[in-house]
Amino acid sequence: MPRPDGPGDAAVQEDDPGFVAGPHGLAHPASCTPGPIAHVRRKCHDVLFNGPPGAGKSMLAARLPSILPPLSPRELLDIAMVQSVAGGLKGGALSNRRPFRQPHHSASMAALVGGGHGARPGEVSLAHGGVLFLDELPEFNPQVLDSLRQPMETGSVMIARANHRVTYPARFQLVAAMNPCRCGHGLEPGYACRRGPNERCMAQYQARLSGPLLDRIDLRIEVPAVSAADLILPAPSEGSAEAAARVAASRARQTARYTDRGLPAATTNATCPAKVLEEVAAPDGEGTALIRQAAETMRLSARSFHRILRVARTLADLDGEAQVRRFHLAEALSYRGRNEGMA
Ligand SMILES: [Zn+2]
Repeated sequence: MPRPDGPGDAAVQEDDPGFVAGPHGLAHPASCTPGPIAHVRRKCHDVLFNGPPGAGKSMLAARLPSILPPLSPRELLDIAMVQSVAGGLKGGALSNRRPFRQPHHSASMAALVGGGHGARPGEVSLAHGGVLFLDELPEFNPQVLDSLRQPMETGSVMIARANHRVTYPARFQLVAAMNPCRCGHGLEPGYACRRGPNERCMAQYQARLSGPLLDRIDLRIEVPAVSAADLILPAPSEGSAEAAARVAASRARQTARYTDRGLPAATTNATCPAKVLEEVAAPDGEGTALIRQAAETMRLSARSFHRILRVARTLADLDGEAQVRRFHLAEALSYRGRNEGMA
């Protein structure tokens, strides 16, 4: 496998410490969950939708939980624990639906990652096992967004208080959405941004997002404006039920592959260690030529290179293909965005 030079793949936690209780246990002062709880490694690819207002970004995000596999008993237990600590478990009723959380962009750091009075779990933990949807991503406070990096890497969050700390699970799929620029329409043909050239307007807006955060998002997808023609086209041939079946089959394939290699059954392409990934996502001859060429022309870092392999492996799994092929890599490369500055 070609392997471009670049920084190490820090996003891959080969020795992930897992979801372990701090010295004072996992429990909230008012609750009594004993001992450590093994965390769930299951993880999807994080995604950023970039498109003008009204393009359906929120609708796409809200539909994601419906095509994800059902919750495992382990996930149900973790979710129930977080909800009970947060005071959201009404009448002891447990839902088997994956959480979908959508905090507003004015959310504080305590609201997002947890903390404050009683070290309450934040949105990242309330979204455990499900989707954390951040609409208008560049409008969030940069420091608040920065605090997402740790839970995105470890799948848990530790909240330090004056004399105790608590650890909550926080393995969520980040689904973010943004307009291409502050005016919202910089990408539309014929539209002139209010302040200066469209390219500058878009660059300024996108610069509000930090490179390290963007670097952790596998998929960046441009969502074009919905035109009148789209509205009169027939519905897409694949509905939620068909998509869910394809996702479930893809997940089963991943579970079998990683279990065969002695990795936990909950490992997915998104959490597969880099070394194993290079083996299981090794493309065919044409694919190898393409990724080698792309690595040179796009100057991919090792991290980007692995991200593309990860996504390509998932695309091949969705197609039921044993080997990653050229068009899987081409599609994975397209999700990197138009240029590495933004992408
Ligand atoms: Zn603009």
